Amino acid sequence: MWVLEKLRSGLRAAPVAVLFVACVGLSYWGYLQLPPRAVNYLLSHDYVTQAELWKRRVLAHFDDVARPLTEAQLSLDEINYLKRVPDASDIYRIKLFDLEGTIIWSSRNREIGSVNDKAYFKEVVAKGQTYVQREEKDAKEIDGLAIHSLFTNMDEKHIVYEVYVPVLERGTVVGAIEFYTNATTLHQLTLRRMQIAFAAVAGIITLLLTITAWISSRASQYQVKMAKRQTAEEREFVEKQMQLAREVQLLGDLNEWLQSSQSLSELFDMVARFMSHLLPDAEGSIYVYSNSRDVLDGCAAWNGGEYKPHIHPEDCWGLRRGRTYEFGRHEVNFCCDHAEPHDDRPYYCFPILAHGETVGLMNLRRRMTSSNKDFYKCKKLAQMCAEQISMAIANVRMRDQLQEQSTRDPLTGLFNRRYMLDRLRRLLNAAKAKGDKVYMIYLDVDHFKKFNDNHGHDAGDSVLSEVASCLQDACDGEDVACRMGGEEFMLIWPGSDLKTVEARANKLREKVEAMRVLYQEKHLPTVTISAGVACFPDNERDIQALLRQADEALYAAKDGGRNQVRIYGKTQAKLPATKPKPVPPSSSLAAE
Ligand code: GH3
Ligand code: MG
Ligand code: MG
Repeated sequence: MWVLEKLRSGLRAAPVAVLFVACVGLSYWGYLQLPPRAVNYLLSHDYVTQAELWKRRVLAHFDDVARPLTEAQLSLDEINYLKRVPDASDIYRIKLFDLEGTIIWSSRNREIGSVNDKAYFKEVVAKGQTYVQREEKDAKEIDGLAIHSLFTNMDEKHIVYEVYVPVLERGTVVGAIEFYTNATTLHQLTLRRMQIAFAAVAGIITLLLTITAWISSRASQYQVKMAKRQTAEEREFVEKQMQLAREVQLLGDLNEWLQSSQSLSELFDMVARFMSHLLPDAEGSIYVYSNSRDVLDGCAAWNGGEYKPHIHPEDCWGLRRGRTYEFGRHEVNFCCDHAEPHDDRPYYCFPILAHGETVGLMNLRRRMTSSNKDFYKCKKLAQMCAEQISMAIANVRMRDQLQEQSTRDPLTGLFNRRYMLDRLRRLLNAAKAKGDKVYMIYLDVDHFKKFNDNHGHDAGDSVLSEVASCLQDACDGEDVACRMGGEEFMLIWPGSDLKTVEARANKLREKVEAMRVLYQEKHLPTVTISAGVACFPDNERDIQALLRQADEALYAAKDGGRNQVRIYGKTQAKLPATKPKPVPPSSSLAAE
């Protein structure tokens, strides 16, 4: 990563480096090319000006300007002066020309009389213009060199400027003077100065350009970085919004489903399914307080989470402290007993509260495949889920309670008549489909009015509760015991055969008879029950008809002397239309 980052930043700096190298290269090329040309140009101009001055000085010593050139006659003074010129100036040689280019006088005697027939003389000089040319010459070709420079290297080439200055008399060219000057030292000096100046300027320009390029490159990098960051932030924001919308949608769905759940087991199934979508980074489980409230029962798990069948409230730091417990986020952590065996993955314990009461615990642990960061992010959502689950549990419990209240008899705890009818309908339908039998045993406590009269209504209630317990104990599987009202009960025993049913009913009757109820520290007298049995589908197929038959069988038992079981259709084919008068109290009550 570090190498990649360095490479990337190196690539970003490449344009600046290229510009820098280009500037340096260009500067070097310029350094080699421009100063020599500029020096030549400047020195040429300087020497032209200088030559004009030299010409004036020379001519100032001539009595007549035109004569020496036009007539080739120089006085002795003029010649002496001309001879002294190389010693008194930069000029090392001087020549005088007539208009035809013939050398009238030269500081080199041997040249006198020769002609300069070069084109520039006729084309330029003879037409009144100054002509300058630069040449490189050997030291030996330079007259009086020893005088000009004793230390001159004889091997090196010398730069010589030859300036032809036309001489005019009243506006007419009459001849020309040529001055030779050795510009080697001046040329080198000027060249060096120009090179230094050029290098300085080029260096400054290169530096400024590089700095400007670097700044603009940094600025554009910064802009790109900012734009990237902004895009990343916007993307993150949009992703967060979408995630939030998804979570809100899932939470809404969860709420709707939980509200419509009929039972706690159905509710926990839904919770497990939703939680695996809502909190994919956490494995979880739910515990709910048992009715005894001394333990919590494991109810659901998801995403690979596990739950123990039972845990104690003191096994959980969340429950003990009454608030969410986070394991793994603090320097010192204590692991809950219910989270053992533990592998140091962080986890949350959310107490589930409903109407101010703790009803359970939701445990979330980071999944093996998820990161701690992702797990910690889900806390808020998990909290909301826990709240929804709490409300849903409370609702289901309240519904169960209402259901219980609407289907149970408060005194005995048995199902009531309404529930019995509903259950009977379902059982008969199922039995009809399977071809099974269903037995209905209608029971009535014998002479109970008298019992109440003798021992009081409360004692009667105690007896009814105990009878109900006996009835409940006599039921198992799909059997149902109900209180029809007053001291009348109904047992529904699906399956089985008549003989067994009769035997079970008689056993129950005997059990009631043997029952000793303690009331206000005294044993109440025994009570007996009479029972009438009807069978589906042997007799009627209609509920009301079956109930009537069981009732009729019960009356037969009463008629038969009470404390007995009668089967409808077994001892009487058809009961008389008018109800026989019950016989007077007998058995235990009669004994009192
Ligand atoms: P039989 O043997 O013919 O059934 O005589 P019985 O006295 O039991 O019958 P009856 O229908 O005349 O009397 C029923 C009595 O049950 C009347 C009432 O005092 C009593 N009873 C009904 N409901 C309750 C109740 O909830 N608690 C108590 N303690 N007694 C009840
Ligand atoms: Mg009765
Ligand atoms: Mg009765």
